[in-house]
Amino acid sequence: MPLAIDSEKCQGHGRCTLASPELFDVDDDGYGTVLNPEPGPEYDGDIATAIGSCPEQAISRT
Ligand code: SF4
Repeated sequence: MPLAIDSEKCQGHGRCTLASPELFDVDDDGYGTVLNPEPGPEYDGDIATAIGSCPEQAISRT
């Protein structure tokens, strides 16, 4: 169940990094990147917050 950002949907708001700076960062162009694609269950809350706060529905865990 890797954590992923759809680069075609991401518009670079950076809200994911606010939800969890341990899991997300922004690249040099301002788009979201995943720092840890396989986070443990202790991050479930942060992931849910990030998914809920992304205005582009670009974050998935499938
Ligand atoms: S919040 Fe969503 S759109 Fe914004 S940088 Fe993160 S993944 Fe991209």
